[in-house]
Amino acid sequence: MNTNEKFTNTIKEGYLIDMDGTLTTGGKLIPGADEFIDTLQRYGIPYLLLTNNSERTPRDIEAKLAQVNIKVPCTAIYTAAQCTAEFIIRQRPTGSAFVIGEGGLLKALDEIGFTINAVDPDYVIIGEGRTLSFELVEKAMRCLAKGAQLISTNPDTWCPTDQGPRPGAGAVAALLESAVGKKCYHLGKPHPFMMLQARHKLGKRTADTVMVGDTFETDIRGAVEMGFQSYLVLTGSAKREDIHAYPYVPTRILDSVADITQDIHGRLNILPPDSKAA
Ligand SMILES: [Mg+2]
Repeated sequence: MNTNEKFTNTIKEGYLIDMDGTLTTGGKLIPGADEFIDTLQRYGIPYLLLTNNSERTPRDIEAKLAQVNIKVPCTAIYTAAQCTAEFIIRQRPTGSAFVIGEGGLLKALDEIGFTINAVDPDYVIIGEGRTLSFELVEKAMRCLAKGAQLISTNPDTWCPTDQGPRPGAGAVAALLESAVGKKCYHLGKPHPFMMLQARHKLGKRTADTVMVGDTFETDIRGAVEMGFQSYLVLTGSAKREDIHAYPYVPTRILDSVADITQDIHGRLNILPPDSKAA
């Protein structure tokens, strides 16, 4: 048995980890988040970062996290833009889309071979972004009138930024819903496709999959509906007293991800048989 096997025999869980409000806040490191990721990597514990923000590519996110000392390869990052691309390619293998969104979404669509079409696309896709014009919304309306399906990369109505909250993809989708009288289909957390794809990438069984996040409506709801364990951290949007406001409850409530690091260290100190023999 090699060292990593010894550790992973002790820690059976794998971790799906939200980013905004869980590892970083306002572009800054949440204390202990770097050590948490280091610990997972050191002991070979599977993890995947999961974000509903479809604005950036995994490579851009890798670079942004590196600035706050969180060193994660882009292959360990799964975005709502990638989830949306993986979903639609299964529905329309040779499709096209009109996009209100940015690089992260456009790149994910390009990777599945979708073309951009402003005349008669299969989908109008709303992603996270910082530019929105009336002209874009009008074009989207005309595409929808011709029969395109309205989807979004995530349901969030607001999105945290370094300067504070800004409108999210869900809010832009609501504008179009109101204008055309058609409901938007939201991907991203808590959609079961995102949660299921994430678990497959993690390679863990349902009961051994832990979702760690700061938001009830996405992280906790998505985990509860899939039968995953759910750890709510209080470093982001949720407060301890909010637990009474939802019909679902997290498995654990933690002050921060540093509590998980402590838990892992404790369990590894007790169980490895080699350490007893020493
Ligand atoms: Mg979050």
